Amino acid sequence: MNAVNLLGFDLQGLAAYCEQLGEKKFRATQLFRWIHQKGASDFAEMSDLAKSLRDKLAGRAVIHGLPVISEHVSADGTIKWLFDVGGGNAVESVFIPEDDRGTLCVSSQAGCAVGCRFCSTGHQGFSRNLETWEITAQLWFAEHALRKRLNISERVISNVVMMGMGEPLQNYDNLVPSLKTMLDDHGYGLSRRRVTVSTSGVVPMIDRLREDCPVALAVSLHAPTDALRDQLVPLNKKYPIDELLAACQRYLAAAPRDFITFEYCMLDGANDSPEQAAELVRLVKGARPPAPGRPKQADAAPSGGKVPAGAGGAGIACKLNLIPFNPFPASGLTRSPKARVQAFAEVLLEAGIVTTVRKTRGDDIDAACGQLAGEVQDRTRVHVRMVRAPVNPS
Ligand code: SF4
Repeated sequence: MNAVNLLGFDLQGLAAYCEQLGEKKFRATQLFRWIHQKGASDFAEMSDLAKSLRDKLAGRAVIHGLPVISEHVSADGTIKWLFDVGGGNAVESVFIPEDDRGTLCVSSQAGCAVGCRFCSTGHQGFSRNLETWEITAQLWFAEHALRKRLNISERVISNVVMMGMGEPLQNYDNLVPSLKTMLDDHGYGLSRRRVTVSTSGVVPMIDRLREDCPVALAVSLHAPTDALRDQLVPLNKKYPIDELLAACQRYLAAAPRDFITFEYCMLDGANDSPEQAAELVRLVKGARPPAPGRPKQADAAPSGGKVPAGAGGAGIACKLNLIPFNPFPASGLTRSPKARVQAFAEVLLEAGIVTTVRKTRGDDIDAACGQLAGEVQDRTRVHVRMVRAPVNPS
C-alpha cells in the first residue's frame, strides 16, 4: 500500500482522512498544526496525539518534502531552491526578503503549456502538473528551513506569489487545496491579500477562483492589443483581452484587494513605445471601443465591480507592474533600456494609473522566473517548434 503524503491535504481533506481512520475530526486540527506550524515530519514527536493514532499514521501516512537539488543565496539575501520532482523534472522556489515582508515565489507545474514568448519556462514545454503536496511542500520546506536558519520560531514568510514555473490556473484542482492550507489559521495563516495567483488569463478558472478561494490576482498582460498579445501570450487567441478584462472585473467583486495587478514585461521595440503606453491607458480606463462582436468591458461586468477614481465608471481598478525582461537566447528578444521603461511608466502615471517598476532581485543567482531552463529536462522540444520570428509591435 502506498503511504499517503499528508502535505497533500487542506484541513478539510485531513479531517476526512482522519474520519476514514475512525478518528475524531478535531484530531485533524492537531495534526495539521504539527505539520504546518511546527514543521514536524515524524509522527513520534507529536506529543499531544494519542499513541494509538500515531501508530496508525506511521503505518499508512508520511510527511515528505521534495528533495532539494540546490540552494543558491544571493548577495541581496534572495534564496533560490531547486526541487527534484522526479522523471528528470525540477521546479524552483524563490524567497525574497524585504524590510516589511518575506515573499515566497512558488511553482505550480513542471514546465508550462502556455508558451509565452518571453518566458524561458514556456520555452521548455510542459511536463506535468504538480500534485497538491508538491505545491504545499515548497512553502512547508522554505518556512521551516528559514526559521532554522534564522533561529527563530515566528513566521518568516508573510506573502506567497504563485509566479514560479507553470500556469497555476491550468492546475486548478491541485492548486486550490494548497491555497487553502496557506490561508488556514491552523496552517500558515496568510492573509488573502498576501497570497497572489498570477495567471496568463485562463478566463473560466478566474471565475472559479473567485467562487472557491478568492485571493489577490495578478494577470500577465504584456500587450495593449490582441494583435500583439497573440504573439507574446498564445493563450490570448483563446481568451482575448476584452474577455480577460471582463473576467477581471467580475473577480473584483470578491477579491480581497480592490485592484487587479497587471504584469507587463518590457520588451525592447516590441511592447514598450509611448504610443503603446497610451493604448494601455485607453484599455484599462475602458476608453477603447470593444473588439467587434464583443461586449464593452463595463457592460460585461456585473454590478458591484469597483472602478478606479476618475475612470468614468468604465475602467478597471488596477496597478501596472512593469517588469525588466531577463533575456535568454531562444527568445530572440531583448530588455527595454531603462529610459524607455521610465518614459512608458510616465505615460501611465500621468494618466493616474498606479505604476511600479519591479526591482530585480537575486540577479547573481538567476532568481527570475524560469531561469533554470537549462537545468530542467526539456521533454517536448517546444523550443524547436517555437518560432523565433521578430515580434511585430503593430
Ligand atoms: S509566463 Fe507563466 S504562463 Fe507564460 S509560459 Fe511562463 S510560466 Fe507559463
